[in-house]
Amino acid sequence: MKFEYCPKCGRKLEEKYSWDEGGVPYCPADDIMYFDTPKPCIVVAVVKEDKILLLRQSYIFKNSKVLISGYVSNGESVEETVIREVKEETGITVKEPKYLGSEFLASKELIMLTFMAEYVDGEITKSDEVEWVDWSNLEDALCEMCEDEIGKRVVRKVLKELRYEGDKAYRCDNGTCELKF
Ligand SMILES: [Zn+2]
Repeated sequence: MKFEYCPKCGRKLEEKYSWDEGGVPYCPADDIMYFDTPKPCIVVAVVKEDKILLLRQSYIFKNSKVLISGYVSNGESVEETVIREVKEETGITVKEPKYLGSEFLASKELIMLTFMAEYVDGEITKSDEVEWVDWSNLEDALCEMCEDEIGKRVVRKVLKELRYEGDKAYRCDNGTCELKF
C-alpha cells in the first residue's frame, strides 16, 4: 500500500529519495519512510503421519478446506508465528517448521511464507476464529482444497518432501473433484 498520510501523526507525507527505491513517502515529523511493502503472513501444512490438519473458513472459500494461516506479529520470528498460529487456531503443538517457499497474493498485498510442520502433541480444540478443523487424509487434501490454489501448491510440496509416490493424492488434477462437502 502506498501511504499518503502518516499513520502515526496524520500529516501528509512528503517524498524522500532513497537510493534503490526512488521517491518514498516520508514523514519529517516522525522521521519515518513508509516503504511500499507487503504484509507478511504464514501458511502452514501440519502433518501427522498420513494426515494433514485442514480448516474450513467460509469467508475465505465457500466450498474448500484451507491450510492454517495467520499474520506475522511484530517481535516474533516467522517460525514462531507458525507455532503460535497453529496453537491458537487448533490447540495443536508443532515443531521445526520447514520453509517451503513464498507466494505473493496481489489482491491483498500479502507475502505468504509457506511451511510444513510436524505434529508434536495436543488434541484439537478449535478457536472461535475457526469454523471447523480436523485431520484429513493427506491423499484427499488436494481434492478437499479445490478452491485454494496457493494451499494446494503447498500440499504438493509436502507430498514431495514426504516422498509420496502414489497417484491417489493427485486424482483431482483432471478437474473432476469427487469429494464434496
Ligand atoms: Zn508522522
